[in-house]
Amino acid sequence: NAPRQRKPDWIRVKAPVSKGYHETRQLMRDLGLNTVCEEAACPNIGECWTKKHATVMILGDVCTRACAFCNVKTGMPRKVDPLEPENTAIAAAKMGLEHIVITSVDRDDLPDGGAGQFVKVIKALRRETPDTTIEILTPDFRGKMREAVEAICEAGPDVYNHNLETVPRLYPTIRPGARYYASLRLLEEVKRHDPMIFTKSGIMLGLGEQRLEVHQVMDDMRSADVDFITMGQYLQPTPKHAKVEDFVTPQVFSAYGAVARAKGFLQVASSPLTRSSYHAGDDFAAMRAA
Ligand code: SF4
Ligand code: SF4
Repeated sequence: NAPRQRKPDWIRVKAPVSKGYHETRQLMRDLGLNTVCEEAACPNIGECWTKKHATVMILGDVCTRACAFCNVKTGMPRKVDPLEPENTAIAAAKMGLEHIVITSVDRDDLPDGGAGQFVKVIKALRRETPDTTIEILTPDFRGKMREAVEAICEAGPDVYNHNLETVPRLYPTIRPGARYYASLRLLEEVKRHDPMIFTKSGIMLGLGEQRLEVHQVMDDMRSADVDFITMGQYLQPTPKHAKVEDFVTPQVFSAYGAVARAKGFLQVASSPLTRSSYHAGDDFAAMRAA
């Protein structure tokens, strides 16, 4: 086995030990909910869970795809849990969340790709915690994107996020089940359907992308009218996953952030530990206050 790559000093994470962390963990267990924080081995889990900020992953913990960067299990998923929408809303209410992020595994096995469950979750949240703003981070709903986006937009999330993940040249190796332009079209479709919904997308850096390719992705996002962008360092979850090609320095992240702001994004998060749901509520609160 090749030795694990050494992480630079700027990727420092605190061990998850706080009371808030344990309470969040227990609540999720009690309600039978999955979080992307745990499933994706997110480095920010200590910080986020201490602050009671978690990203709920609906539609089970087994994905029908196998992206080279992702730690989520792949295989034949289980049946959809009918109690998940209500339990998600209970979790949001118990945690007193001002903003919640909901994501899911890909469910290419379901006739609607899982869009119906997103709708049910949004409705349950609106009912139980009407003041909580809702951000969803969806799959690409391959082959059924229009219907899926339409149904979800009708349910009225505040922010619709769909990540492009990387530059188009690296899709065949990093995101083989997806198409770059299909993902861009999804983002466009959200705005076309409801211009009041903020759209958001993100990429990981450190997979071998070039600077001009990153700039091009930003331009493509802006052409699709994407409002918020996130950029963070890719970290290899296990030695079986795609290798880190380089650790991008905080200075380079700042430079990309400045370029993104100049290109007109309303919210920009660009740092080594940025994840699409990291501080998501803060960004949104800042937007609404502006
Ligand atoms: Fe969870 Fe997102 Fe925080 Fe990571 S950044 S721990 S995925 S809420
Ligand atoms: Fe992970 Fe999403 Fe890819 Fe599934 S589709 S393997 S959850 S990144």
